[in-house]
Amino acid sequence: MPVDFSSRYMWATYPDLWAKIDFNNYICLGLFIQFLMIVIIRHFFYRNYVGLSLWPFIILKNDQLKQDAVLINHERIHLKQQQELLIIPFYFFYISEWLLRSVLYFDSYKAYQNISFEREAYQNEINMEYLSKRKRYSFIKYLWGQ
Ligand SMILES: [Zn+2]
Repeated sequence: MPVDFSSRYMWATYPDLWAKIDFNNYICLGLFIQFLMIVIIRHFFYRNYVGLSLWPFIILKNDQLKQDAVLINHERIHLKQQQELLIIPFYFFYISEWLLRSVLYFDSYKAYQNISFEREAYQNEINMEYLSKRKRYSFIKYLWGQ
């Protein structure tokens, strides 16, 4: 009997297809959130926007910024955070925290600066040893305070 690929029967008999589809949806959601991030950052943080980390890439506004060790360190801290949160949840938490703080401070730029991920990155970007000594999920410590 030939397999009817349009029937639900197929989904039940090929569970690995589910995995494939879920994975693709995850990627699509990820790309969508990355797109949102770029739009948000371009619109609200344009004055300071020179670099952006979208795991596994660091996107720089121009080529010369590659020489900026502090900026690269800052972005690498974000890559580490993204990796720890399995990429997509990172963007979810990042955007949620930013929205929440925007309401709290009534200032979108101040809100951005105080996102726990940004606090960790800004406070440690000049320390080039930081990433090699950092404990996992260190950004949690930066959720409160200041
Ligand atoms: Zn940052």
